Amino acid sequence: MPVPQRTYKLASDRLRAYLRTHNMRPSRVRNMVLERACQLPQPFTAAQLEEACLSERISTATVYNCLRLFTMAQILYAVERQRGKGVMRYALISASPVRMEFICDKCGRVTEFQDQAIVRLIQERKFINFTPRQYSLFVYGECRVCRKIKD
Ligand SMILES: [Zn+2]
Repeated sequence: MPVPQRTYKLASDRLRAYLRTHNMRPSRVRNMVLERACQLPQPFTAAQLEEACLSERISTATVYNCLRLFTMAQILYAVERQRGKGVMRYALISASPVRMEFICDKCGRVTEFQDQAIVRLIQERKFINFTPRQYSLFVYGECRVCRKIKD
């Protein structure tokens, strides 16, 4: 699968900025793990990322270190809604200040979507005691696949 270039570029820019401000050196292995994370369907588990890195002989410890680093660098976020199922999943933080997701109640599938009308509506809203930085909108329901199974 080709790397979604825009996604990878945004992620690697964020990583570079984070490393610079924390006096850490860039590493080839880390960039490879990041590239794999961008290629995976979102959200993904640590095990899925580990499997995607197998061909590069990247160790489990490195994959977990990268996950922690990428989360701190605001490249990935932990999808906490899946905690009840016991497995932590990770997803890339999108470029948009408004993150919108469809979440299927049946299979747990998370699909990011964009709706400019909603984005405008949310961003135009002013709050007296709060300056927003990022928004999340979770829409729960039934995905196309699960709906098909039922039909
Ligand atoms: Zn579903």
